[in-house]
Amino acid sequence: MNLSNQYYQLGKNFYHETLPSPVSEPELLLWNAPLANALGIKLSRQEDNELLAQYFSGNQLIQGSKPIAQAYSGHQFGHFNPQLGDGRAHLLGDITDIQGQAWDVQLKGSGTSYFSRSGDGRCAIGPALREFIMSESMFALGVPTTRCLAVVATGDAVYRERPYPGAVVTRIAASHIRVGTFQFFAVRKDIESLKKLTCFAIERHFPEIKVATSEGENSAEALVSGQNVLDFFAAVLKKQVTLVVSWLRVGFIHGVMNTDNTAISGETIDYGPCAMMNHYHRDTVFSSIDRNARYAFGNQSKIMQWNMARLADCLLPLVDEGEDTALAKITPLLQQFANDLQYRYFEMMVNKLGIAELVEGDIELVNDLLAIMQKQQLDYTQHFVALAESLTQEKVDNFIENTAEAEQSEQELWLTRWYSRISDDVTAAKALMEKTNPLVIPRNHHVERVLAISEETGDLSALYEFLAVLQQPYDTLKQTKAYQDAPSDGDENYHTFCGT
Ligand code: AMP
Ligand code: MG
Repeated sequence: MNLSNQYYQLGKNFYHETLPSPVSEPELLLWNAPLANALGIKLSRQEDNELLAQYFSGNQLIQGSKPIAQAYSGHQFGHFNPQLGDGRAHLLGDITDIQGQAWDVQLKGSGTSYFSRSGDGRCAIGPALREFIMSESMFALGVPTTRCLAVVATGDAVYRERPYPGAVVTRIAASHIRVGTFQFFAVRKDIESLKKLTCFAIERHFPEIKVATSEGENSAEALVSGQNVLDFFAAVLKKQVTLVVSWLRVGFIHGVMNTDNTAISGETIDYGPCAMMNHYHRDTVFSSIDRNARYAFGNQSKIMQWNMARLADCLLPLVDEGEDTALAKITPLLQQFANDLQYRYFEMMVNKLGIAELVEGDIELVNDLLAIMQKQQLDYTQHFVALAESLTQEKVDNFIENTAEAEQSEQELWLTRWYSRISDDVTAAKALMEKTNPLVIPRNHHVERVLAISEETGDLSALYEFLAVLQQPYDTLKQTKAYQDAPSDGDENYHTFCGT
């Protein structure tokens, strides 16, 4: 295993060079073998257990690694903080997979850095295991996400409201460039670094954006000016549409969509206070620090628009020297983003109902169902599964025929409309629903139960069983049923915290 250091090449004002702080007794708890394979990592848990624990605790440096703590700013709950940065994470370097795509390898909970402020640079075992479970589940659900390669117990205590065992998580991401990374240089009016960062982001994530340089023109300079920057911004927006629409499809609530937790790559990052929605309600919030419900389930599209507007602010000086001209050029992209989000959201929602193509009237069909679900507190995951399970051509045809005259409840009226819409090919509708609607999601009460068992007993077999089900969320396995139930109390008193 050998790491390169692409981000390191950007120069000293992008990071602080910092070594991970050693831990007492590293012990490998979780190893993501499929991810390791995909990255071309040859080490295996059976043969190299101790070496893996040394590497992924930060005790021993992987060959080629030059650890850094990345600098970034961020709007946290709408308030700008010019100096955040990795306070408890080390970017070890990057690894290139068989397809030639580079991936960041980052340790989290690996000690303090220049950016730690009053934090201890550490991570407790619960949030570390939680990040592994949530991100693997999201990956299997088809949601773009950062992933965990390993969780290593440190043997050291981490002090929160009481001592907890500590752990280090290894996070794999297409990159850790955030909206906040752009803000870091924009607020310092460091245009040269902003250009370097944009150039890096284009080459890493959107190599299809090519420069049309005229003779004698510097290609690096041309890459990050004018139309290329607009193309870059449009490409980032496209990724975020897919991201947010995927969250809304599975009922994911990120919980802390600050600009420092919004990756340019469009991957879900920062699994601190995230949670899954049970019964449908657009205002659902579980995070104890989100007092104004800024990051509620149904607000996530709006917040992503706000975050992308902050990225647009940063890119203005690269788009055009004249601020008004730059604004006039970038604003239509944000407008288009709002439209795309709206369109792709409804397209996804009709897919959840087995409808392949959005036509007039479908938006009302979706909104009316959601209104019923909200009023009747119907479970978001279970209800779509139940709708799909109940489908047969015969049932649909009979229902339309026999209930036309009868007095119908609100729900039956809706069913009649939906059945009429899909009656042409019920088999195809059902197949589309089965692809779009997961049977199982990482329900908060199951995540917490499995974490409690793992933490208290040190026995991870319950976690492995849960993970195996989550890794096939569209298939019925023997154990699937055991994880499909909604919480008996509706998670009424469930609160998540920032994973510190
Ligand atoms: P987060 O809420 O996880 O997105 O973190 C916000 C900021 O706080 C980032 O700059 C983190 O690096 C920093 N931070 C969070 N937890 C700790 C910790 N235990 N020690 C040092 N810095 C931390
Ligand atoms: Mg963060």
